[in-house]
Amino acid sequence: METSSVAHKLSERFVAGDSLQTAVEASRRVNADGTRVTLDYLGENVHSLDEALVSRDMYLRSLEQISSNNLDANVSLKLTQFGMDLSEDACRQNVRELVCAAAKCGNFVRIDMESSEYTDRTLRLVTDLHAETQSCGAVIQAYLFRSEKDIAMLCERGIRVRLCKGAYLEPAAVAFQKKNDVDASFVRLTRKLLSDGTYPAIATHDERMIEATLEFVKTNRIAHDRFEFQMLYGIRRDLQKRLVADGYRLRLYIPFGEAWYPYFMRRLAERPANVVFLARNLFRE
Ligand SMILES: Cc1cc2nc3c(=O)[nH]c(=O)nc-3n(C[C@H](O)[C@H](O)[C@H](O)COP(=O)(O)OP(=O)(O)OC[C@H]3O[C@@H](n4cnc5c(N)ncnc54)[C@H](O)[C@@H]3O)c2cc1C
Repeated sequence: METSSVAHKLSERFVAGDSLQTAVEASRRVNADGTRVTLDYLGENVHSLDEALVSRDMYLRSLEQISSNNLDANVSLKLTQFGMDLSEDACRQNVRELVCAAAKCGNFVRIDMESSEYTDRTLRLVTDLHAETQSCGAVIQAYLFRSEKDIAMLCERGIRVRLCKGAYLEPAAVAFQKKNDVDASFVRLTRKLLSDGTYPAIATHDERMIEATLEFVKTNRIAHDRFEFQMLYGIRRDLQKRLVADGYRLRLYIPFGEAWYPYFMRRLAERPANVVFLARNLFRE
């Protein structure tokens, strides 16, 4: 799939391109509208530590390109892309190198959250690196039962949190299964983060979640520079424009790289209508 030209046409709505250069160009366009960026070099569950080093080096180059092009951007990464499945120690060393490089140039690294088998290890690493550098942050998934406790811990330590609903298939033993329950948890956790968190990021395309956030912000007179919204590149561009026009901070998650297939499939699974939308566009050209 990843090398087929037809498939490339399908993925381009959600992925900036294969190369760092295409990601830099997309970031420049997005920044021109006053929207911030987080760059994600696609790849997860690498099979060797050499592959993990390739990922780390691409992220180091991304930080350099962000600086040299004066982009308003940081980076987001997945620990399985840095070797977590192969060696926790090697993974820590790779991520530490990147986070220290980010700290040196005044930038920031967001550690994405993967499936629940990684949650403990991910939060351990983020808290350790935050204590050392203050230059990395976590992601919390509203569908997990444990998230309220995790957010309390992260708020106490002043660690920046991105809140999302969660993109993996999780069992009923650890996660809410009904959309209404996930949404209620998202609203509860948003309020906690806006009250006690350090520059939280509210990551959703759900208009009801955004409305609930704005209502809380207005009622509690929370300044616009105390938090940001985040959305994925290519999704709900109408909503993105509206938030920026209304003076809210917005950051777009821009993925790039050749290993786009798992990311792309999660986006399709979230919204089956995307399959029809993409197929229609493909046959139109
Ligand atoms: C910046 C950012 C970072 C993220 N990082 C992580 C992470 O680290 N770990 C993790 O598990 N998940 C992550 N996610 C994914 C997240 O968990 C959800 O799977 C995803 O955002 C969809 O949830 P939603 O809040 O948009 O609401 P939903 O209830 O899924 O969708 C609400 C509405 O949003 C629109 N929409 C949502 N998804 C799509 C789509 N794919 N295509 C078109 N329209 C769509 C539709 O209009 C839909 O009706 C991230 C999301 C964002 C925005």
